[in-house]
Amino acid sequence: MASIFSRIVAGEIPSYKVAEDDRYYAFLDINPLAEGHTLVIPKKEVDYIFDLDPETYAGLWQFAARVAKAVEAAIPCKRVGVAVLGMEVPHAHIHLVPLQTEGDLDFRKQKKQLTPQRFAEIASGIAAAFNQG
Ligand code: AMP
Repeated sequence: MASIFSRIVAGEIPSYKVAEDDRYYAFLDINPLAEGHTLVIPKKEVDYIFDLDPETYAGLWQFAARVAKAVEAAIPCKRVGVAVLGMEVPHAHIHLVPLQTEGDLDFRKQKKQLTPQRFAEIASGIAAAFNQG
């Protein structure tokens, strides 16, 4: 069965998309640690990031760097933090989290509650920065 993230890429499940090319897709995490918390995935469905073929793996990080620049441009933050967990969804993904302090990357903390309108505003701001970059 396709992963929830493959179903997002296929358009079967909605997402707040921020960037896409033929091989990679980026969208807002629905349970964000901070406004602008973004997930970057390869369209190719592989569970564990370190099982990706070397070309897809390298391309994923290159794409994530471009998305991180867009997140930084759209969301006021000191840095964009990076994490790879994969404890929940078996489809490789990189978390990009705008940081004010190191505690902002603590996945045990309470997630932000945002309205659909706020998610859409954030996604369109990051998408605009990505398309300008
Ligand atoms: P992990 O696999 O531990 O890296 O966690 C998966 C992440 O995906 C969590 O932060 C979830 O909030 C996020 N997530 C799960 N389903 C969705 C979805 N449909 N849209 C956006 N983010 C999701």
